[in-house]
Amino acid sequence: MNPESESAASTATCPVCDISLRFAFKKGRFEYGRCPECGTVGAHPLPTDQELSEHYARAENYKVLKKYEERYAATYRRTARMVKSAAMRKMGVEGLENISALDVGCNIGGFVKALLELGADARGLDPYVNPDDISCDELKKRISRDESVSGSDGGQADCLTMLGVIEHLRYPAAALAESRDRIKDNGMIFIQTPDSESAIAKIMGRRFFAYQPVEHIYVFSRRGLIKALERAGFVEIEAGRQWKFLSASYVHEQLGTWGRGFQWLLWPLRKIVPGLSLPLYGGGMTVCAKKQLSESDRKG
Ligand SMILES: [Zn+2]
Repeated sequence: MNPESESAASTATCPVCDISLRFAFKKGRFEYGRCPECGTVGAHPLPTDQELSEHYARAENYKVLKKYEERYAATYRRTARMVKSAAMRKMGVEGLENISALDVGCNIGGFVKALLELGADARGLDPYVNPDDISCDELKKRISRDESVSGSDGGQADCLTMLGVIEHLRYPAAALAESRDRIKDNGMIFIQTPDSESAIAKIMGRRFFAYQPVEHIYVFSRRGLIKALERAGFVEIEAGRQWKFLSASYVHEQLGTWGRGFQWLLWPLRKIVPGLSLPLYGGGMTVCAKKQLSESDRKG
């Protein structure tokens, strides 16, 4: 009997195509499988609730995010400007002024802050955030650990953002459908996530940074995410590469959390120019799409 057919990953299914994943590689006690149809990569077995809360309680990279909050702000500002131009294209608005935005998986609110700076009425949602880590009172008021963040419009926002979130979810298709319900008519979604079919992912194979068991459950391919968005009721889907501008020190420390072996790459740069900001293509993608109105939405 073929050992691959007995692997756990072959009993896991693609969240987009609903067909079995094909075993790709093992990482720790998890297996990753790849969808033969759309190229999305998924972990198996799915981590339990307990495993997830334990993991996020001690996750090193969130501490890194807190430590480099100021430097990371520049990255968030660039991304917020991308959201602004997407909103201008998709929603026909002139800017983010008076646009309601909900950042799902907002962590300590760096991106909520960047959206506020552009005039958006921005809020954040994150079940794992420690309120003590949120730097200012204004942000504390705007960030919630549960659904009570809803505000005045029944929890709906013009623009829903998910940066580095969808790869953490056990049920991403359900999350996209739920997201659609939380978006107002004429509204849009903006997603950043690793791309399982990016050049870097192909070169690095199982060592691709995004394959982080417990933390990263589904790493979508671009075509997989587009298909998932279509199925969840989104239209006018645009996808592109995600360039990140990160400080050399931040990258150096992040590489440390991924594996000591990579840190030497940036060590010389870090010593020469400590405040250096590096444009990095880390195999990520940016996807935005507009909410498709259903028949009942049109009548309502
Ligand atoms: Zn698939």
